[in-house]
Amino acid sequence: MASEHIIGRVSIVAPVYNEVDALWPLYESLVKVMDKLGRPVEVILVNDGSSDGSAERLDEIAEKDERFTVIHLRRNFGQTAAMAAGFDMARGEAVIAIDADLQNDPADIPAMLAKLDEGYDVVSGWRKYRKDTWLTRKLPSAVANWLISKVTGVYLHDYGCSLKAYRADVLKDVKLYGEMHRFIPALAYWAGGRVTEMEVTHHPRKYGKTKYGVSRILRVVLDLVTVKFLLTYATRPLQVFGRWGLISGGLGVLLGLYLTVQKLFYGASLANRPALMLSVLLMLMGVQLITMGLIAELQARTYYEAQDKPVYTVRYVKYKAGRMREGFPGD
Ligand code: UDP
Ligand code: MG
Repeated sequence: MASEHIIGRVSIVAPVYNEVDALWPLYESLVKVMDKLGRPVEVILVNDGSSDGSAERLDEIAEKDERFTVIHLRRNFGQTAAMAAGFDMARGEAVIAIDADLQNDPADIPAMLAKLDEGYDVVSGWRKYRKDTWLTRKLPSAVANWLISKVTGVYLHDYGCSLKAYRADVLKDVKLYGEMHRFIPALAYWAGGRVTEMEVTHHPRKYGKTKYGVSRILRVVLDLVTVKFLLTYATRPLQVFGRWGLISGGLGVLLGLYLTVQKLFYGASLANRPALMLSVLLMLMGVQLITMGLIAELQARTYYEAQDKPVYTVRYVKYKAGRMREGFPGD
């Protein structure tokens, strides 16, 4: 695979929510890796409304080492939003996302960067030997990974792993909402990015507590529905709603016709026929689905045009070396 170019500057982004005891160890292990990278590195630590003294600890780190920047969010916005805040400020050509609790190992970063240098746009970590509880974490995650892979068509073993490396320009094409950070590889793939995965080390949580319970499963499932919709139908919603609308409405009309014939030609009474209700229900649903699809078509246009969002993404444009890019050929 031909690479466009080798990565220079690197930004590392970590969301922090009540991780006070992990922060100095995190600093130490990041610095160890950064010194070995041989590229300019910045670290952006995003304090997601911590209330345990993480804020002060983070400021000490920023004070001690100029390569560290700390963003303090005004309240707890959640991991995805915190990561998005870091991504927005990152200036590197590559952006590495990593958890602050040291369950991920910064020592894996150089290998991930090497993958980006090969020409990949997204390198997703795979915690092959994951050190979490089985019933509440590993089992749901296995199901989720299977489901997400099936639905998005991007087969990864470990969507939930936070340690991921991105080319910054791919990340710019991806907007994050809800719990979407885990879907970035799928969204990036959809935007035309080259996605791969890599085994990474995973440690048990040594400091602090996990911020999630089983309720996360529901949130992930709902986000998956959104992602699927965005992936396939965001630019042509009527295709989804309209198809079901036509099927439902069509069945309703057929059933209605059948009942009408019975009534008119055979004198059957329709008063006590549940089929009549069904016919009306199907027709109404059909009309509603088609109308919903049309409204969604309008919404989609507003969505893309209000933001001047193209319906495509460009990898790069090739010009003859030295040509004036702004000018028209021959000017
Ligand atoms: N986190 C955050 N905001 C939140 C919840 C979590 O910034 O509302 C951070 C947390 O500090 C950690 C990362 O997101 O750096 C992953 O959280 P956690 O380790 O609790 O998740 P798990 O590894 O258990 O899935
Ligand atoms: Mg963790």
